[in-house]
Amino acid sequence: MLTLETAVLEFFLVVAFALSAVLLNTIDARGFLSSSLVGFAIIYGGGLSWFVIVAVFFTLGVVVTLYKYGYKRRIGGAQGKGGARNWPHILANGGIASIVAIWNLISPSTSMAALFLGAISTSAADTSATELGLLSHGKPKLITHPSSIVPPGTSGGVSTLGFVGAVFGSLVIGLMAGVLGVLPDPYLVLLMCVVGGVFGAVADSLMGASVQRKGYCTVCLKPTEDIRHCGERTKVTKGAWYIENNMVNVLSTVAGGIVALAILAALSP
Ligand SMILES: [Zn+2]
Repeated sequence: MLTLETAVLEFFLVVAFALSAVLLNTIDARGFLSSSLVGFAIIYGGGLSWFVIVAVFFTLGVVVTLYKYGYKRRIGGAQGKGGARNWPHILANGGIASIVAIWNLISPSTSMAALFLGAISTSAADTSATELGLLSHGKPKLITHPSSIVPPGTSGGVSTLGFVGAVFGSLVIGLMAGVLGVLPDPYLVLLMCVVGGVFGAVADSLMGASVQRKGYCTVCLKPTEDIRHCGERTKVTKGAWYIENNMVNVLSTVAGGIVALAILAALSP
């Protein structure tokens, strides 16, 4: 069992990481609280290697978000606030991983590690697919209807560069998890992360093109996927009003986790 000293040390490590993220302007104040919470659940339940993987995902997210940020802003697809992520976004990407980590604390198993890896790989794949996809020269096409061209950044819009981004993001997590020895077989880990992550990202796009809410702002009349815009509730024209981007992220991490678990179950001796 973990000692109090270890727990305190882990707590300070997580807070120091979250604090440096705030100082680098990559998360806001409430993002600091939610990422400290997520980080501590993961390091306490999964151990240092799980936390390092989440830290790598977070860093990868920052790097791909800020890569050619000015260009992304010009085409209207950049993340707001200079690329800083807010607390719902952090919980959407780290929530399932934290729950799995707490579950792992109660009953540790390779299945929990598989769910964790699939979930984080999905978040990494989806984030780099979105951010690199924005740089695609060709117009994104709707995944459910490839003859429809959609504006860059639209949920459900896909491009070849976005797909390459999904493979890249999950590959980074897979290589890291393999090196850290999260499970004994590094090749199996790599396969679980890449297949789970890319599947999760595709599931994200499919949900984004179908059930995710889309609408417009009643004040500035711009199309938006957000619940609020210009301080007012937005009008829904497509999808379910309660399924917004963060909810789709949570569901896709579940999908990616289950695929990674299925691969582990099918291929482990
Ligand atoms: Zn507006």
